[in-house]
Amino acid sequence: MVVCVLCRQRKGKRFCPAVYNLICPTCCGTHRLKKLNCPSSCPYLRQAKALEMAQREAEWAQKSSERAEIEQRLTAFALEEAISTFAAEHPDLTDAEAISALQAVQDAVEREVMSGIPHEPNVDGRAKELALRILKNAQTMRQRIGIPHNVLLARVARLLTQRAMLLSQRTRDGQGYLRTVRIDVPPNSLEQLLERLTSSARS
Ligand SMILES: [Zn+2]
Repeated sequence: MVVCVLCRQRKGKRFCPAVYNLICPTCCGTHRLKKLNCPSSCPYLRQAKALEMAQREAEWAQKSSERAEIEQRLTAFALEEAISTFAAEHPDLTDAEAISALQAVQDAVEREVMSGIPHEPNVDGRAKELALRILKNAQTMRQRIGIPHNVLLARVARLLTQRAMLLSQRTRDGQGYLRTVRIDVPPNSLEQLLERLTSSARS
């Protein structure tokens, strides 16, 4: 019998790409994203992430659906404001870079939800810069109006990725999504929105 290289007690049934050896399902679940530096490609990580995020989203959706809808719209605005502003600063930015940034945000936030430990977006170049700007906008919004929590943030990043892919496919020049975002969400408009929200809450 092959023994798990981590606990050296139970059967090693799963190939773990982080330790590059066989480990048991218990150690996989216990140390995933904590003691182990799991790559996003690991099928056990992907399954566990999909399941946990679906459960948490279902819990979130159980509260007032009207409130949930508003929170989702505000979060989408904050994320796309970062993209719109960044695209205005970098006119040659492509849809592909924006999509990579959104996917990296979703991945990093899901890792944090699962492990309780903050994770950097796992992407390079300008997509990383953009991913950090998106996370910064989410953080600003969180400080001012208390949303989004991470489950909502990951959900919105996923939905915006789908929207970006669709809009990008419809155009041939690789900037169709960015053009739409810049029309829908004016660059540098997050502060204005937050001020309006917080002043109407006070009066
Ligand atoms: Zn084990």
